[in-house]
Amino acid sequence: MIFKKIGKVADLCIVCRGVRPFRLKKVTHKSKLLGYEKECLDCRIKSKTDRSKYANICRKHNVTVEFLISDTFPHLREHYREELRKDKFVDEDNLPMLTDEERLEMIREPFDIFIPFIEKRHPAEIYFDRRTIKSCLFTFIIPLLLIFSPKPNIPTEIVNYFYYFAIAFLIISSIVSFYYLKNANKFYLKNFIFPRIGKSVAPLKPTTDELEHILNSLKNSGASVAKYIKIKDIMFYVDMYIKNAEW
Ligand SMILES: [Zn+2]
Repeated sequence: MIFKKIGKVADLCIVCRGVRPFRLKKVTHKSKLLGYEKECLDCRIKSKTDRSKYANICRKHNVTVEFLISDTFPHLREHYREELRKDKFVDEDNLPMLTDEERLEMIREPFDIFIPFIEKRHPAEIYFDRRTIKSCLFTFIIPLLLIFSPKPNIPTEIVNYFYYFAIAFLIISSIVSFYYLKNANKFYLKNFIFPRIGKSVAPLKPTTDELEHILNSLKNSGASVAKYIKIKDIMFYVDMYIKNAEW
């Protein structure tokens, strides 16, 4: 599949809880159009989108969100009237104006978004992401360079040190690469998924009981990967975003 950047649009981001600039990409496979993907330029979350929603695609740099709205999605505020109404209550710390169902539904939204992301990588024990691939490449490239690089006029005793260093490097970086490989999924959850779910639900100040209720309903509806989401990790980011907002 080929993802080709075609410009920027304004849209609503569920994770950021507001209107944000998005990068729009055209997705093709063997010259056949498969669809479009949008990536929030704030939280970097990617999702499928409908190209026909946008009146235009902006190719200018350094434009404001307001400019993007008027240029690419002039009816955005009418289109998302209901979502913006709820987000406005969240922004204004006016939580009692949301019904219990609306509130629970909004807390659940980021979970529904991120479950497919987690499903893509789990339950694989070992996952090759960019960092592990780089680490594995270095594990072999550096020792090979040390061993096979030309060493004119270098005394044999010194050349021997090149070999010792190459072996030491190979051993240490193999251990590091294995550690990255084993923990790639854990890092992905900790560094990518949990902070974003936390950011999205923080304005709603969820309780652990509400998060538990959502996780249980996800598991019951067949999303077994929900077991990888830990409430205490989500609450860590919720507390962090609430504290930052208060400052
Ligand atoms: Zn976002």
